[in-house]
Amino acid sequence: MSRRKLLKFSAGAVSWLLLGATRARADADAAARVSVRGNWQALRAAGVAIVEPTPRVTRSADEWRAQLPGDAYGVLFEEDTERPFSSALNDEKRDGLFVCRACELPLFSSAMKYDSGTGWPSFFTSIEGHLATQRDYRMIWPRTEYHCVKCGGHQGHVFDDGPAPTGQRWCNNGVALRFIPAAG
Ligand SMILES: [Zn+2]
Repeated sequence: MSRRKLLKFSAGAVSWLLLGATRARADADAAARVSVRGNWQALRAAGVAIVEPTPRVTRSADEWRAQLPGDAYGVLFEEDTERPFSSALNDEKRDGLFVCRACELPLFSSAMKYDSGTGWPSFFTSIEGHLATQRDYRMIWPRTEYHCVKCGGHQGHVFDDGPAPTGQRWCNNGVALRFIPAAG
C-alpha cells in the first residue's frame, strides 16, 4: 500500500469509528430521553388523579384572575417573568410531578429537573404533548416560548444550552407550577 493510500485508508477508518461513536451516543441519548419521558407517571402520588390534556380549559381573564394569586396570573396569562431565585421550586429535589398552576396538567417530572444555576426551575425535557412552543419576539432576539396545551398558560422559554441527553433547557417560572410530591 502506498503512503498516500495508507493515509486515505487511515482517515477513512478514523471517520468511520467517530461516526460509529456519535451514532452510539445518539442512540443512548434517545433511549435515556424516551425512558425519562415515558416513565413520568411512575412519579405520581398515590390517590392523585392525573389531569389529561383534553378537553381544553377556556376561562376568561377575570375568571383566571379570581382563581390565581396575582404573581401566578401575571406569569401565566400576561407572560410576566418571575425574579430569579424567587421560587422555592428552584431547590425542590423530591420525587414527584410539576403540574400547571392553573389547570393541574402534569408538565414535568422530578427526573427531568436539573440545576441550571439560572435561578429558575430548569428541566432537560418535558412530558410529551403537554407543552406547545411558539416564537417570541418580546426581547430583541427571538426566543422560543412554551405554554400549557390544556389552558394556554405561559410557563417559560426553552433554550438549546441544556445538558445531555437532550441539550435542552426548559426554563420555567416556578410560580406557574405546583409540585405534587410522589410520597405524601
Ligand atoms: Zn395549564
